[in-house]
Amino acid sequence: MAEFIGSIDQGTTSSRFLIFNKAGEPVASHQEEFSQIYPQPGWHEHDPEEIVSSVHNCIEGAIETFKKDGNSIDSIKAIGITNQRETTVVWDIESGEALYNAIVWTDTRSQAIVKELKSRKGADELMQKCGLPLSTYPSVTKLLWLLKNEPKVKEAYKKGTLAFGTIDAWLVYKLNGHEKRVFVSDPTNASRTMFMDIHTLKYNPELIAFFGDDEFDLSNIHMPEIVKSSCEKAYGTIASGVLSGFKLAGCLGDQSAALVGQKGFDAGSAKNTYGTGSFILYNTGSKPVISTHGLLTTVAYDFDGTPSYALEGSIAVAGSGVKFLMNNLGFSFDSSKITELAGTVENNGGLVFVTAFSGLFAPYWITDTQGTIFGITQHTQRGHIARATLEAVCYQTKAVLDAMEKDSGHPLQELKVDGGMSNSELCMQIQADILAENKIPIVRPKMRETTALGAAIAAGFAAGVWKNFDELKEINTSGQTVFEAKMDPKDSTKMVKRWERAVNMCRGWLA
Ligand code: ADP
Repeated sequence: MAEFIGSIDQGTTSSRFLIFNKAGEPVASHQEEFSQIYPQPGWHEHDPEEIVSSVHNCIEGAIETFKKDGNSIDSIKAIGITNQRETTVVWDIESGEALYNAIVWTDTRSQAIVKELKSRKGADELMQKCGLPLSTYPSVTKLLWLLKNEPKVKEAYKKGTLAFGTIDAWLVYKLNGHEKRVFVSDPTNASRTMFMDIHTLKYNPELIAFFGDDEFDLSNIHMPEIVKSSCEKAYGTIASGVLSGFKLAGCLGDQSAALVGQKGFDAGSAKNTYGTGSFILYNTGSKPVISTHGLLTTVAYDFDGTPSYALEGSIAVAGSGVKFLMNNLGFSFDSSKITELAGTVENNGGLVFVTAFSGLFAPYWITDTQGTIFGITQHTQRGHIARATLEAVCYQTKAVLDAMEKDSGHPLQELKVDGGMSNSELCMQIQADILAENKIPIVRPKMRETTALGAAIAAGFAAGVWKNFDELKEINTSGQTVFEAKMDPKDSTKMVKRWERAVNMCRGWLA
């Protein structure tokens, strides 16, 4: 009988459920967008219950198609989860009720907390222990904001019932049902909290102590047990709905899942996922490399207790810049139309858009700035702004790849790409052009649900559907598109220099 694997892909703007066959092809899928809540400038929240219900709806929708096509649900051997990372949920372990909206990874409300943490003794050593620099991005600063500002969270802390988790932990907990108390997280997600030791994949008491103070001892908060990314037992089973009783067997943070889905298993391979934000992961093999050029160190995956690590360049704004042009500036109602608009002009007309809506992440880590457009003249059209929005992601990708080359000592051979924005041929060509001096080809697979595929691979390994990486070799190899630079490297270097000048001019805006 044919074997299938289900994959829950809980992203920043939508949830999806896909069902893959053993050849790695999606045979059924369903997607649902959910509410983006922006209560104040810089704040970004999700309703944790809506996230769970969107996942249930996606499962029901995809299974309906799957069954209509004559498949039996018994042929689904396991289900994997991949999720937006860092986004922070707090709930009461006694009731299973969320105590506040989820604070999303893009949210910058913890700026003052970050400033105070940076002044503490030991702040300089954090990076060596957990691989992340102090910023508003990791979960810990969001948790501290909740403890200090939300009475319900403070109360649960005092009662000893406060549970903290990233979206994977929340989803696994809720899908299993509160009664079962399955409270786990995988290392690719736990490595984004700043509580996990990147070398041991365990919570580090020194890190937990560093973030506490006289009022809050963070070791009194319930945190999920860290388990392998691929595991038949730890993640439990779905408690309700059409897949009730089905096993959850794998879990990977979305960027790690995309690396796995792109089969970036060898040291030196890299991918960029252009979704809401854009995230470049570079596989560094079995040893964590601590960056000295503004990159993060993260766990790529841990399938069998021998983790693989990655250097990561996180770019906060990619597709969200496109959405900004659509929703805030009314440029269009459809993402692909923004690309069309960008194609109506031959070049950026001298415009540079530093899309620093959440400050700038890697490799710059500038918190005291906001989005800024440089170079507006009477000649400026909407097309120029659209083009500059696409270019902003490509410039930051170049800056990240240059940093990766310095940290790893090796030039990159090719960049595999995926994510919503990689659908834009123009954007991918701009990317290849901006990398003209690096001569890095951009390789885009035909099937771009690589994040979901990565979670399916994690679950499929646990359930024995696949046994080793060799069996995955042929998956998603035909029909890929390769983008190579058409621009003279001298011209692209000039553009990059202008971008770097613009970034430097943005510094200190909020100081
Ligand atoms: P996430 O998983 O972070 O929710 P996705 O990978 O689904 O993100 O990508 C969604 C993003 O991609 C949206 O912000 C959308 O505006 C952008 N996007 C989708 N298609 C295109 C396109 N053709 N051109 C430019 N941007 C696009």
